[in-house]
Amino acid sequence: MKKLLICVLVLIVALAVVACGGDDTQKPTPDVTQGPENTPDSDVKDPDDDGAHTHDFKEVVTLEPTCTSLGKKEKKCSCGAVEGNEMPLPFAPHNAKEATCTEDSVCATCGKVLTEKYGHLFVDSVVTEATCTVDGLARSTCHRCGTSTDTVVAAGHTYDLTKLTVSKGSAGSTCTKCGQTVTFAEKQTILKLDFDSEAEFANYPAFTVEKPSEMKYENSTLQTNGALWFKYGADVIPSNSKLLVSFDFKLTTAGLTHRGESIFSFTSRGGNSYAWIVKYYQADGVLSTQDSGHNASNSVPATLNKWYNCTAILDTATNTVSVYIDGVSIGSKTVHNHNDAKYNNNFELRFFDVKSNGVSMPYYDNFKLVEIK
Ligand SMILES: [Zn+2]
Ligand SMILES: [Zn+2]
Ligand SMILES: [Zn+2]
Ligand SMILES: [Zn+2]
Repeated sequence: MKKLLICVLVLIVALAVVACGGDDTQKPTPDVTQGPENTPDSDVKDPDDDGAHTHDFKEVVTLEPTCTSLGKKEKKCSCGAVEGNEMPLPFAPHNAKEATCTEDSVCATCGKVLTEKYGHLFVDSVVTEATCTVDGLARSTCHRCGTSTDTVVAAGHTYDLTKLTVSKGSAGSTCTKCGQTVTFAEKQTILKLDFDSEAEFANYPAFTVEKPSEMKYENSTLQTNGALWFKYGADVIPSNSKLLVSFDFKLTTAGLTHRGESIFSFTSRGGNSYAWIVKYYQADGVLSTQDSGHNASNSVPATLNKWYNCTAILDTATNTVSVYIDGVSIGSKTVHNHNDAKYNNNFELRFFDVKSNGVSMPYYDNFKLVEIK
């Protein structure tokens, strides 16, 4: 019992000492377990700061750039502190779609045309080949965007007009694809005179007809005394085309035989000078193109008072006239360019010269001018 009492007394005394505390004789005991205060990870330290905050600068955009103006940025800490000066930001890219075949690339923000439209790049292809009798289909497709357009290719025969078969009063050709032979149709006839009456000339107002003083209709033929001219503008004849001229004729009497009898001229000299294409040489009894060698191989025998057919093919691309008598070639001649203004843009067919040149009282029949195409 005595021992317990002592323990209680000791405890009371100890508590009393702690409670009194601030005894001058007591000194604080340094805490040896703590190191130097607050060592941060950051090595940036504001000298003005008392060490409580270390800045963490991050780049912040202060002005957004556009495609036409520069932007700005700075380094800023969450506390508001700024490091260094503002720095420029580069232009923003334009806001545009890619250019296409049909549309420019235009910036929606500033309106600048960045790339002009390319335009289509068409490549042609054949979908179905046209034949002589069935239409074909051609397709034009843009290599870039795929846009395509179809075109119907008309069916039709293909004639090589450099290889005409000329017979009495007509010309034909053979289709290079199918072999079908055609004779160029009457619908391509530009001028047709049967010489049944004077009224026929009125059917062709585009043509100027210069008649000789004497004209006589007899058994559906025409007899003249002197030259007969047909004149018309060059525009009547399409370029790069061919024309067929055909007429039947009969010579009655001849005069100045040493020069030959002028029968037919296909000219464009505006009435001044003529290169007679076909002549009759009575002394030799031949029809020939006009040249010094009228007895050459390109002539055909002929006599007075007999009907002959003269067929001539004019190639307006080369201004060449090829002449046939009763379907037999007597050669070619070059004539003047009918499109040349020097020749009044006028094209003329002249039949038989005036009586003083030798031919008198010829007969005509079945004249026609046909376009070959
Ligand atoms: Zn800060
Ligand atoms: Zn822009
Ligand atoms: Zn395209
Ligand atoms: Zn054919």
